[in-house]
Amino acid sequence: MENVTPNVRTHTGLRGCNPSYVTTADGVVVIDTPQLPTRAVAMREEAESHGAIRYVVNTEHHVDHIFGNYFFKGAGKIVHHQGVADNFMVVGPILDPFAYAAEAIPTDDPGGQEIFPDREVYERDPNRGQIVFTGDLTLEAGDHAFHLIHTPGHTPGQVAVHVPEERVVFTGDTVFSEVQTWLMSSDIDEWLVALDRIAGLDVDHVIPGHGPVTTTGYLATQKAVLLEWKAAVATAVARGWSREETIQHVNFAERYPVDIGQEYMMEYIQRHNAGALWDQLSAPFVRG
Ligand SMILES: [Zn+2]
Repeated sequence: MENVTPNVRTHTGLRGCNPSYVTTADGVVVIDTPQLPTRAVAMREEAESHGAIRYVVNTEHHVDHIFGNYFFKGAGKIVHHQGVADNFMVVGPILDPFAYAAEAIPTDDPGGQEIFPDREVYERDPNRGQIVFTGDLTLEAGDHAFHLIHTPGHTPGQVAVHVPEERVVFTGDTVFSEVQTWLMSSDIDEWLVALDRIAGLDVDHVIPGHGPVTTTGYLATQKAVLLEWKAAVATAVARGWSREETIQHVNFAERYPVDIGQEYMMEYIQRHNAGALWDQLSAPFVRG
């Protein structure tokens, strides 16, 4: 794993999110769990070599941030926002999160097949939140404070984890650093507010949900990506384009690669980003 500061480690080279942990004078705090089983087990072992795991924080409900919880049973308390609890592994209209986790195993973690649970076994105890909160929450471990800041937008239960002693913020998928942004289940207006709130923090390092570690300088780029998507689809709606015409013509595939291991999802992302925005932006103008 990559050392961001002497106490902060993250892994930006895995399929799934950037799972991370912070070591303190009194145990370890994990922020997001690896989606791939063998990686989850390995990270747990590595984290526990620095002390007992006190908390496991999930920054959002998407499968790549929570599936690995299953492999952290008994390792500290799982902490997440009510919005994560409400959406935890819920099958949506376009994605079955358990099936999506299973689909990654043959290609990305063949060694994980043996420990990948059956759906029924998994659903009995996926290791859901033991501390579930609304608004913001501060946790403490050793001399470190962990400010869990509710920053909805990408998802309703999104949090950023600010660790002032390390001058670090973990943003979850409020920031996609130099990789494609998934926004099909998002509220972009809330997301812009979330970026402004994070921009107000006095930190040196921004650890994104996906892509390389960056700085607050990148927040303006993330904002531009969201605004460009929104403006392009708003323009399509203004031209009277149908949903399908919009999907055909509005495409930001050239801008960034897809994060590691999900390269085959490029067209899925373009299609569903454009389609979801068209649904939102055309709604006020549909008569009948
Ligand atoms: Zn993610």
